[in-house]
Amino acid sequence: MIAADLVIRSARIVTPEGETADDLAVSDGRIAAIGRDLPAGREEIDGRGLLLLPGGIDSHCHIAQRAIAGEIPSPDNFTSATSAAAAGGVTTVLSHSMCGAAEDPETVLGEYLASAEGQAVIDYGVHLQLGRADPGFLADGLPRLAERGFTSLKLFTTYEGYALDDAAVLAIMAAAARYGLLCLVHAEDDALISFFRAREAAAGRNGLPAQAAGRPIAVEAEMIRRIGTYAGATGARVHIFHVSGADSVAALEGAGVSGETCPHYLTFTAADLDRPDFEGAKFLVSPALRTKVDQAALWRALADGRLTIWSSDHSPQNRLAQIARAQEKGVGPYSAFSGGMPGLQTLLPILFSEGVVAGRISLHRFVELTAGAPAALFGLAGRKGVLAVGADADLVLWNPEARWVVRQEDMLSNVDFTPWEGMELVGRPVLTISRGRIVARTGRIEPGAVGHGALLRRGRPA
Ligand SMILES: [Zn+2]
Repeated sequence: MIAADLVIRSARIVTPEGETADDLAVSDGRIAAIGRDLPAGREEIDGRGLLLLPGGIDSHCHIAQRAIAGEIPSPDNFTSATSAAAAGGVTTVLSHSMCGAAEDPETVLGEYLASAEGQAVIDYGVHLQLGRADPGFLADGLPRLAERGFTSLKLFTTYEGYALDDAAVLAIMAAAARYGLLCLVHAEDDALISFFRAREAAAGRNGLPAQAAGRPIAVEAEMIRRIGTYAGATGARVHIFHVSGADSVAALEGAGVSGETCPHYLTFTAADLDRPDFEGAKFLVSPALRTKVDQAALWRALADGRLTIWSSDHSPQNRLAQIARAQEKGVGPYSAFSGGMPGLQTLLPILFSEGVVAGRISLHRFVELTAGAPAALFGLAGRKGVLAVGADADLVLWNPEARWVVRQEDMLSNVDFTPWEGMELVGRPVLTISRGRIVARTGRIEPGAVGHGALLRRGRPA
C-alpha cells in the first residue's frame, strides 16, 4: 500500500453526517481516507484539540477589478487577496469579471483571467457580470462560456454604467433559465435611491450618515420582491447578494429566492457612520448598514436557514487615503468616498466567534454557511466544501479556543484598513490546505504558495 502524502491525526472532523475524532489522509490533492488508525503518511500532523473543517468558500468578493464608484484604483491583486483569504481559512474565492454596458463580456473575461494567471494562492472562480442584455451574446456567447465553466451571472440593478433596467434583467434571467445558469443579484431599486438621496440633499444632509438614510432598507426589500417575481416568470435560479436586514429577509421569503449576508451587517450599524473625523467613512457599504434589530433578524435567518451563505463582499478600497484626501480638502460629503470594505481574512473568524462561540449558530451550520451551501450553489458539489473521500483536500485546521485581536498589521490584503481593528475574537485557523498543499500557517503564507491556485471550471447549481 502506498503511503498517503499527508495524514492529519485525531482532530475533531466535521462532516455532513456529524463530528468524529478520526484521522484524515490526503493523496494527490484529494481526501483519500477518513477513519481510525490510518497507516502512516509521508507527512503527519497532530490535530488533537483542533477542529478539521472544509476550507471556506467565499463566493462573493471583488479581486483585482475596476472600482464601480470612485476613482481610486482597487489596491488588491490576486496574490494579496488570495493570501488574505488563505490566512483566514478560505480555500476558494469567486470574484467578478466586470463588464460595462459598452463592453464585450468575453473580451473583458479574457483580460480578467490573464490578470489572475499564476497569481493565486488558492483556487478561484469567476462570475460574469453583464452590463447589458445583448441578444447575440445571450444566444451564442453565454452557452459557450457556460461550457467553459462560467455558470453564474452577476446583475446590478443600481450603479451608473452597470445597472440593468427591468427589461434587461428579464432577458438575462430568461437566458440563464434556458442554459441552467445562476443569476446573482445586487438588489437595490435605483429610482428609489435617487428619490431618497434627493430628499436628504434637499434637507441639507450630505454627511456620512446620509449615505444610509439615502438608501434605506426599502430600496432593497422592494427590489428583492421584484426579482422574485421575475425569477418566477422566467424560471431562473436566483440568489440575492448581501442581504442587509429584517425587511429584506422577509422579502426574500416571499420572493422564493435564496440569499446571503456578510460580516459587516452583523457587526456594525448605521450609527458607525457617525464616528468623528471621517472615521465613519470606514463603514460605507452598499446596501448600507442598518440597526441592532436588523442584526438580530439576520442572525436568526442564518441559524434557521432562511439565509444560506456567508460571504465577505471583499471590496478593496484604500479608505485611509480617501479620508486623508477628504480632510485635506476640508469637505466630507459621503459622495467623496467610494464604498466597500475588505473582509476575506476575517470572514470565517468573525462567524466562528460571533456565531458559534457566542451560541447563535451551531458548528454544523457554520460549515454549511461557509462551505457546503456555496459549493452546491456554485457548481462545486462533491469537489469543494465537504470532508469526504474523493473531494479536493481543501482543509482548514482550526484552533477553536485561540483568543486574538484583529490588527491591520496582520492583514495580508493590500487594503490600508480593516473596519474590525481591535475586535477580540475566539477561534482562528492554524493551517490552511489547498488541494493537499499547506498554503498558510498561523496567518502567514507558505513559501512557494503563490501560483498554486487554479481557475475552477464550475458546473451548474445543484
Ligand atoms: Zn459585491
